[in-house]
Amino acid sequence: MSDLDRLIDMLAKLPGLGPRSARRAALFLLKRRESLMEPLSLALQETARRIRPCSVCGNLDTADPCALCRDPRRDGEILCVVEEVADLWAIERSAAFKGRYHVLGGTLSALDGVGPEDLRIEPLAARVRDTAVREVVLALNATVEGQTTAHFIADRLAATGAKVTRLAHGVPVGGELDYLDEGTLTAALAARQPMKS
Ligand SMILES: [Zn+2]
Repeated sequence: MSDLDRLIDMLAKLPGLGPRSARRAALFLLKRRESLMEPLSLALQETARRIRPCSVCGNLDTADPCALCRDPRRDGEILCVVEEVADLWAIERSAAFKGRYHVLGGTLSALDGVGPEDLRIEPLAARVRDTAVREVVLALNATVEGQTTAHFIADRLAATGAKVTRLAHGVPVGGELDYLDEGTLTAALAARQPMKS
């Protein structure tokens, strides 16, 4: 396999890119070798080397704990639980939340064989128990898996005494947080509700 074929092969593994668009992307890069391809290659190497998941919240950053966990202006007594880092970033873009986060790493799914031990649920329970968390906002996707996971976590945290809330149903059914506009997310956060198990 030539170097070019290998590049196209790797590009085709990216979400949203098939073989055809991967070929176009490869040619696009080759035409912009100095202005784009080389800086991109450097950026990929740097991020691959330096970015790690935060051991506290699961966010991605060059520092551990991450910048959000270290920021003294953020309220450590309120935790926002999200499925993926992309959801955390979506909420950060809305600038509606000033607490801290906890990334689960997915949702419970019997179909895909994902159980509680595959997600960062126990670290969440430990965090709520060991640090003075008074509210946990379950900002999970409005999908069946997201809501099943939300109920599981609400049950798991029931004994901790922390208030457990969920986003208001401004979030469309089947909706994924990453695709919502900031206004909808802000409204859903502001109108969060007690989580009933
Ligand atoms: Zn963190």
